[in-house]
Amino acid sequence: MQFEPVIGLEVHAQLKTETKIFCNCATSFGAPPNTHTCPVCLGMPGVLPVLNKKVVDYAMRMALATHCKIGHENRFARKNYFYPDLPKGYQISQYELPLAEHGYVDIEVDNQKQRIGLTRIHLEEDAGKLLHDPNLPISKVDLNRTGTPLIEIVSEPDLRTPAQAGAYLRQLRTIVRYLGICDGNLEEGSFRCDANISIRPQGSEKLGTRTELKNLNSFKNVEKALRYEIMRQQEIVADGGVVIQESRLWNDARNRTASMRGKEEAHDYRYFPDPDLLPIVIDDPWIEKTTKALPELPDEKKARFIKDYHLPDYDASFLTTERASADYFESCIKRFPKPKLISNWIMGDLAALLNAQGKTISQSPVSSDNLADLLRLIEDDVISGKIAKTVFEQIALTGETPQSVVEAKNLTQVTDVSAIEEIVLKVIGDHPKEVETYRNGKKKLRGFFVGQVMKATRGKANPKMVNKILSEKLESE
Ligand code: ADP
Ligand code: MG
Ligand code: ZN
Repeated sequence: MQFEPVIGLEVHAQLKTETKIFCNCATSFGAPPNTHTCPVCLGMPGVLPVLNKKVVDYAMRMALATHCKIGHENRFARKNYFYPDLPKGYQISQYELPLAEHGYVDIEVDNQKQRIGLTRIHLEEDAGKLLHDPNLPISKVDLNRTGTPLIEIVSEPDLRTPAQAGAYLRQLRTIVRYLGICDGNLEEGSFRCDANISIRPQGSEKLGTRTELKNLNSFKNVEKALRYEIMRQQEIVADGGVVIQESRLWNDARNRTASMRGKEEAHDYRYFPDPDLLPIVIDDPWIEKTTKALPELPDEKKARFIKDYHLPDYDASFLTTERASADYFESCIKRFPKPKLISNWIMGDLAALLNAQGKTISQSPVSSDNLADLLRLIEDDVISGKIAKTVFEQIALTGETPQSVVEAKNLTQVTDVSAIEEIVLKVIGDHPKEVETYRNGKKKLRGFFVGQVMKATRGKANPKMVNKILSEKLESE
């Protein structure tokens, strides 16, 4: 029997507000344990939470960017469970009335576009962090993270392959980064993903029993864990067994998932509306104001790059995945309006350089002005494309302008006709045998002559002129 995988993701994004969701404690990372805490986030009796308005603003940005409907009156609920990293004994979250519902995100895998539904986006607070001492039979708790604002983005079970799940997750990350509301860092945990997966017979409409995969702290692991789990579930069913609903932990070292605990049901959490917090009332003017303030979003930017700059789809995707790359590209364009040339250099030499140095484009050692000026030098025939690579390496190293490197190293192209002619004639004179073979029809030898001229000029002769003069001199007796 053929099986079809069905996947739905729950993504938690840590919002980049300066203070926590219900108190004034800082959200900044890396402080000594338990120094960013107060009676509210420590869950002391008698304290009252006060909602941080910026959290709502940030979450609304995400909701609007993903085409969700905002709940005009949404509510906080208490999700009750016991765990040592949760001092109150309940997490403030949203349940029946979330901030937003019914949105979507478009993805593309193997040139196939697909729309993934979003069930809901809701607000909640993060828990603390347990630190397990490997040498002692104790664990410690750091409550600095307690009360950090999160949004949870729940997808419909619309994904069918691990690659689609990866593409969806990348698209969400691109959006939160464009909006400036979250770092989107899976490795550091500011962007976390639980993957729900089941299988069903091909053609069936009914959902199978799902497992929930946790501990997926990289894009690679999300896809690896899903691939493993599809295989595991198929084997169970093929052997006549049934999949049990449970949470499973991805073990990267062993390349497999392992059972963690039975899956809780909503009633296990005894959800109820939080009596300490008023409903969040969001009126139309607030929604309009937030909509107007949204930046150009990745899909829109990509479409504009294709339309205005006539870039291929691939280039437009590459350049718009990060807002910083798009900005870099457009700042080059202002100085040197040749989109495809710029895009080639950003995707080629610049990307290779950044990759080698482990830097983002915002930290690029070659400024957009310098890249634009370098391309202008090629365009104006001051240097050849080949010499440009040398100049690029140099400006990356020192931050000098391309103009000054070309001058200091005397790299200006030889474009003087008589100078090139002289060299061409010398090359022809030095290689009578090759000239004869060429004239007898072995036209492939042209490359050899070009190479000789370039060698004689240390790569500085203008290639177009070399070709033209070579033609003249070789074809005529
Ligand atoms: P819970 O809190 O119980 O995990 P949620 O509604 O928060 O439930 O999340 C459920 C997630 O699991 C959603 O992304 C949904 O699309 C996905 N899902 C639900 N049922 C299935 C299923 N049978 N197979 C795969 N994914 C599923
Ligand atoms: Mg869940
Ligand atoms: Zn606090």
